[in-house]
Amino acid sequence: MAVADIRQCVILLGGLGTRLGALTRAMPKPLLDVAGKPFVDVLVGEALRRGFTDLLLLAGHAADVVQDYAEGLRARLPAGASVTVSVEPEPMGTGGGVRFAGDLLADRFLLLNGDTWFDFHWLDLLQAATLGPALAARPVPAADRYETLEIASDGRVTRIVPRGEAAGEVLINGGAYVLDKADLLGFPEKFSIETDLLPQLVLQGRLRAVARTGYFIDIGVPESYAEAQTAIPRQRTRPALFLDRDGVLNHDDHYVGSPDRLRWMDGAADAVRLANQLGIYVFVVTNQAGVAKGHYGEADVQALHQWMAAQLRQSGATIDDWRYCPFHPDATVAAYASAHSWRKPAPGMLNDLMAQWPVQREHSLLVGDQSTDLAAAAAAGIAAVPFAGGNLHHFLAPHLAAMTKQIKAGAPDA
Ligand SMILES: [Mg+2]
Repeated sequence: MAVADIRQCVILLGGLGTRLGALTRAMPKPLLDVAGKPFVDVLVGEALRRGFTDLLLLAGHAADVVQDYAEGLRARLPAGASVTVSVEPEPMGTGGGVRFAGDLLADRFLLLNGDTWFDFHWLDLLQAATLGPALAARPVPAADRYETLEIASDGRVTRIVPRGEAAGEVLINGGAYVLDKADLLGFPEKFSIETDLLPQLVLQGRLRAVARTGYFIDIGVPESYAEAQTAIPRQRTRPALFLDRDGVLNHDDHYVGSPDRLRWMDGAADAVRLANQLGIYVFVVTNQAGVAKGHYGEADVQALHQWMAAQLRQSGATIDDWRYCPFHPDATVAAYASAHSWRKPAPGMLNDLMAQWPVQREHSLLVGDQSTDLAAAAAAGIAAVPFAGGNLHHFLAPHLAAMTKQIKAGAPDA
C-alpha cells in the first residue's frame, strides 16, 4: 500500500490508569490535563500535521469523556479530516479493542498508545511498513523493567526478549505501530497487541522495527505526569523552516495553478523530509497573485497544495502548514485588489503561522528566491537565505544541520 494512502491514526484510550490513582477514576489517562489541554491533543495535533486525516479514538473506561473530547475536536478539524469514536463494551485488551472497531478500521493504519508520546517523524514508520507491519523502537541505556527487541540488519524483529534477560543499551517497544487489519482477525475477542499479536508477527518473520532516538514521555506514572506539564510545551516549541513555493519547492514557471504545470525542484521532497526528521516545522509561504490576476482561483491553489502534499507524503515528507496570499494591488479581479499585509515583502503570512504554532523564532529560517522573500523574513525577525536553484536537499542540508545544533543546545531533553 502506498504511503500516501495510509491516512488513519488509531489511538488507544481505553486502559485503566491504575498507577495514577484517583486522577483517572472517572477520566481516561490520555484525557488528563497537560498544560491546559487533554494529553491526547498532542497526539492528535502530531497526526494531523502529518496528513493523518482519519482519526479513530478507541475508548472504554470513562468513554463519555472521550465522546465529549471528540465532539469538541470535530468542530476545529481542518477540512477533509474526521474523528470517530469506538467504545468497547468491556475491557478487551489492546488488540481486542482495536479489532472491535471492525468496519471503522482502514486496511492499514497507524496505532498509538494514548498515554505516551514518541516524538519522531512518524512517516518514517509508514515507509518501513510498505514491507509489512512495523513498530517504532527506541534505544534505552538499560533494559531495566522492559522487554527488549532483537533486530536483524534488514530491520526485521527476530526476537522479543523477556524482562531481565538483556543488559546494556537495548531497543524497546516505543508504542507506535503500523498494522494491517487482516492481521487482527485470527485472534479471539480479547487479546493484547504486546503479548499476543507482536510475538506472532515475530514468529512469522514479518515485524519490522524503525529505531529512533526522539523524545519520549509516558504520562502513566505520577512523576512523569507532573514533568509533562512543562516538558511537553517545551518539546512542541521548535524551529521552523519557512519555504517560498515557486522557485524553491517547484520551478517558477509563472502563475503555476495546476499539477500539470508544476515541475518539482530537484531534491524538494528529500529536503522537506530531512527537516521533518530533524524536528523542524516546515511551512510554505507563497504569494499567489495569479488569483488576483484571474489566471486561476483560490480553489485551484488549494487543490494544487493538496496534490503537492500528497506527492510529498508519498516520499515520507510533510508540510506542516500552508499560507498563500491571493491579493495584489494591481488585481484584475476586484475582490483581490489590495496591498495586503500577507503579501511578501510584508510578513503577515509568517506572523500568522507563528501565532498558531509554537515556533522558536530565533532558530528559524526562511528560504526564498526573491528579494521580497528575504524582506518578509527580515520584517518577521527570521533569518533567511536566498536559493538560486539546483538541488534543494543539497543546498539545505548544511543549514538544517546548523539549526539542529541550535535545537539541541536549547532543549536538553531532545
Ligand atoms: Mg519564489
